[in-house]
Amino acid sequence: MKASRTASPGASIAECYAGLVLDLDGVCYRAAEPIPGVAGALEAIRDRGVAVTFATNNASKTPAAVAHQLRDLGVPATGDDVVTSSVATAELVTPGQRCLVIGMDGLREPLRDRGAVLVDDHRTADVVAVGMDRGLTWSDLRRATLALRRGARFLGTNPDATFPEPEGQVPGNGATLAALTTASGRQPEIVGKPRPTLFEAARARLPDGPVMMVGDRLDTDVVGAAALGWDTALVLSGVTTADEASLADPPPTYVLDDVGGLLAPAPPEAPV
Ligand SMILES: [Mg+2]
Repeated sequence: MKASRTASPGASIAECYAGLVLDLDGVCYRAAEPIPGVAGALEAIRDRGVAVTFATNNASKTPAAVAHQLRDLGVPATGDDVVTSSVATAELVTPGQRCLVIGMDGLREPLRDRGAVLVDDHRTADVVAVGMDRGLTWSDLRRATLALRRGARFLGTNPDATFPEPEGQVPGNGATLAALTTASGRQPEIVGKPRPTLFEAARARLPDGPVMMVGDRLDTDVVGAAALGWDTALVLSGVTTADEASLADPPPTYVLDDVGGLLAPAPPEAPV
């Protein structure tokens, strides 16, 4: 459902919204490199009373670590401003539930904060929670498979098949989930974009009123947010080219060079 908001004449695109959900890689930075102008643009957007929260499929970093990275780029942020797919996964767990975890601190810490009990014994697990884990072993897959075959809830932080490294694409969490799906015959509940759960967790951190997703990927950021009825801004500072954007289905509400484009005047028929 789209809420409506009347921006005053001459208002910027950002001011047509009560809040913005920003993707990180390709929007705020590229790998470890800042995208020029992002810090100043976000400061101007916040100064105009538009709330900002950051949402990432990255499951391996804690919100505090992501916020630290943002501050290094000159963007004021605390862990409360950041929702990772791991945090949204933890919000699906009931306090006291026993979780067998494949994942790093980025997943373990939010689960503990949620009040989950982290266990190693597959016989006692209520939930198997799976996120990117660079220390993954066959023994981890064995225990998770046994727990899933006993009926534990199967949560996956994100479906990304691969993860970019300087030498190329390496197995991402989707690859781990595929191994467990093959071994257990079970399908995971996926939390990250383009599925709704991470978007909804980010939405819950913003004030009432219309919100827009700002991302660099059509298949996750735009497709997922549009499915929830949100407006979308595709920025060309990441993986998507202008040619690809022109062919997108559904088309983004806005196609912008970068986050600074959110400060351009809203079109008179701003579609909120
Ligand atoms: Mg991105």
